Amino acid sequence: MPGAFWCIVEDDRKGFPKKVTAEVIGEAIRLAGAAEALWVTDAATEEGLRELGAWGVTKIWLLQHPAFSPYQGEVWVPAVADLVAKESPKAIFAPVTARQREFVARLAARLGAGLAADTVGLALEDGRLTARRPVYAGKLLSKVTWAKPPWIATLRPNVFRPAEAQAGRTAAVERPAIATPEPRMKLAERREEVSTGLPELAEAETVISGGRGMKGPENYVILEELGRVIGAAVGASRAAVDAGWRPHRFQIGQTGRTISPKLYLGFGVSGAIQHLAGMRTSKVIVAVNKDPEAPIFKVADYGIVADLFEVVPALTEEFKRLLDKS
Ligand SMILES: Cc1cc2nc3c(=O)[nH]c(=O)nc-3n(C[C@H](O)[C@H](O)[C@H](O)COP(=O)(O)OP(=O)(O)OC[C@H]3O[C@@H](n4cnc5c(N)ncnc54)[C@H](O)[C@@H]3O)c2cc1C
Repeated sequence: MPGAFWCIVEDDRKGFPKKVTAEVIGEAIRLAGAAEALWVTDAATEEGLRELGAWGVTKIWLLQHPAFSPYQGEVWVPAVADLVAKESPKAIFAPVTARQREFVARLAARLGAGLAADTVGLALEDGRLTARRPVYAGKLLSKVTWAKPPWIATLRPNVFRPAEAQAGRTAAVERPAIATPEPRMKLAERREEVSTGLPELAEAETVISGGRGMKGPENYVILEELGRVIGAAVGASRAAVDAGWRPHRFQIGQTGRTISPKLYLGFGVSGAIQHLAGMRTSKVIVAVNKDPEAPIFKVADYGIVADLFEVVPALTEEFKRLLDKS
């Protein structure tokens, strides 16, 4: 429908939308009263389509073609840009994930439209959308608006209230004709990272972060054990990543992942500005550090001045007891 608010679906590459998609849909419905989904995929599942409907979208634009996997911007962008030109949505929202971040920037460039990236707040003021986004490594929030539609924005995970699924709500599925260009790039190799069995960093509601104070890669097992008990993802500071203790995909901060969990627990992290840039919008920040002057205590809601090697096992045992996990 012209003037609609579109939500780009992020999926798990197995045909199911991810939780971050519910957050984008929830915000679009809150702002506009209704939303439509746009799903670019090689293989949607009926269950995935039902889930989107249950989240409250009225229509799903399904662009399904084998060429859409693996993701390649140069293949996705023309297909979506054609549809945008035909359907004239007023707003296009996507979650901040590795591929959406790139795809949406390319799409905005192709459409000659403005993009507010990594937004943490959206509002309609006199019929015009405004967005709030952190700048200067999260030290300031800037408020921006668009010169003209479509208003394109990426939304930071764990900030916006997700749409709640209501059984029985369904969406019409539109399958527009698609022309996919021959890509100029070919994927040479794809390597799947070995899963830790813990939640994904960007989506987790609780994140544990280990810094240089962890002393070595072998000690991250104590954080992982705590993570398993409380259902948390385990990330790291750049100092730990640069030392080769953790892969870069676990790095939190300006040159790593931006996270906004309900609870952030930092162990042996000093709280450098570049680390804070990636986690200061966490709802509750807990820091454990031997140094009472460590800058992380300035942003922490709760701080423990202590040796992490005493605190982590004690916390794990206490949570096991409280959560009745042995
Ligand atoms: C351009 C640029 C980009 C950057 N991007 C990032 C980024 O994305 N993410 C990031 O994290 N950093 C980034 N950095 C690096 C950043 O400036 C810091 O160097 C880094 O965050 C420090 O990591 P750390 O806190 O783990 O280490 P340190 O600063 O060395 O702090 C270690 C802390 O552990 C404490 N400690 C030691 N032993 C114990 C113990 N047993 N128990 C409790 N506490 C203990 C110490 O008191 C200390 O506070 C960037 C830097 C630059 C210049």
